[in-house]
Amino acid sequence: MYFRNLVVGVNTLVPLKNGKLTRYINFDNAATTPPFINVMNAINSFAPWYSSIHRGTGYKSVFSTEIYESSREKVLNFVGADSKLDTVIYVRNTTEAINKLSNRLCKDDKCVVLSTFMEHHSNDLPWRGKFKVDYIETDDCGRLLLDDLEGKLKKYDGKVKLVAVTGASNVTGYINPYYEIAKLAHKYGAFILVDGAQLIPHRKFDMKSHSDDEHIDFIAFSGHKMYAPFGVGALIGPKRIFEKGEPDLKGGGTVKVVSHDFVIWEDPPSKEEAGTPNLMGVVALIAAIETLQNIGMDKIDEYERILLKYANHILSQFNDVELYCPNISNKVAIIPFNIKGIYHGKVAEILSDYFAIAVRSGCFCAQPYIQRLLRIDKEKILKIAKNPDSKRPGMVRLSFGLYNTCDEIDILARAIRFIIANKS
Ligand code: PLP
Repeated sequence: MYFRNLVVGVNTLVPLKNGKLTRYINFDNAATTPPFINVMNAINSFAPWYSSIHRGTGYKSVFSTEIYESSREKVLNFVGADSKLDTVIYVRNTTEAINKLSNRLCKDDKCVVLSTFMEHHSNDLPWRGKFKVDYIETDDCGRLLLDDLEGKLKKYDGKVKLVAVTGASNVTGYINPYYEIAKLAHKYGAFILVDGAQLIPHRKFDMKSHSDDEHIDFIAFSGHKMYAPFGVGALIGPKRIFEKGEPDLKGGGTVKVVSHDFVIWEDPPSKEEAGTPNLMGVVALIAAIETLQNIGMDKIDEYERILLKYANHILSQFNDVELYCPNISNKVAIIPFNIKGIYHGKVAEILSDYFAIAVRSGCFCAQPYIQRLLRIDKEKILKIAKNPDSKRPGMVRLSFGLYNTCDEIDILARAIRFIIANKS
């Protein structure tokens, strides 16, 4: 299995601190993946046909509209949605998708949204202020506690509107048992949203399950984490939810009839896609989806498990490396760690300056989860927040993509050895 030549820029040379050019190693794929070569080719070959969609009458406009609208079926198919009941709303990214959904669901204070301790801020903050929000607990290792979910569903006694849960954590890589969560949510009359940002590029995902009560109601994901460019993503869910009420963004494309006295809104998805749509983004997203499907999600999963197992094995050899989720079962290829006695930001800097290895350090937009994993209490958080000079708690994160290799992990091993040997 070798997917390296499918991705743009894998042999880019970058300068080290001493000026020497070295091959760049990207272990920050949870933030953004480089695009597939197929994606760039699709953009290039579509460029001559590029034109304004929906209202133009020229040949290229009609053709562009056809490409844009027919793409929705491909997205529905990719996530195993119900093509009769579900709709695809194109958005900029997962953050926009979740904000959009938060504007669509009922908003009275009787409505509760259950988020979790392991969420990215994008699947936490959009719910606050609009709903009563409560958080499903995790165990000491950061895995979600289903008993706590059921306890909270019971406690709120039919008032939970939505359980908003990540498919895979961007911090630990843990994959949540979303079908089991769906079953519990549905039992208590709630919907489930899966934040698919970290799951969709790495595992086959199917909104339908073997049983009806386990189906997934909503899924959101971002193109730039699945080998397509920035600026395109999707929210998929039942069309009827988006039929009611006003769209959150209003303007061209969202209306059927307007007078100064009244507005008749378009049907979804157009109602939810105000302004001129991102046609090129959608062309790129479809090329990424087709490339992932052609490789086969099972093959990607299999290969990335090899990377995860190898890197975890390498890191666990170092006494000075603290691993926060050494159990690598049922997770995507993400490893958070720290080196004892060295600030996470410093480790990331040395990896970049001396080895051209890109990682992420800090809290990865999941501060409550990091605070929990590092066992930092509220008082300490407030103290740190009040002092701008204090070092922020955090971790170093490795996140692999399908084009990474074990040879690159060997270079990381050398780098870690160097950092430990030179720590003062
Ligand atoms: N959800 C998860 C789990 C993520 O990892 C991220 C980004 O890292 C997001 C949501 C937000 O994605 P975007 O910045 O593309 O909106």
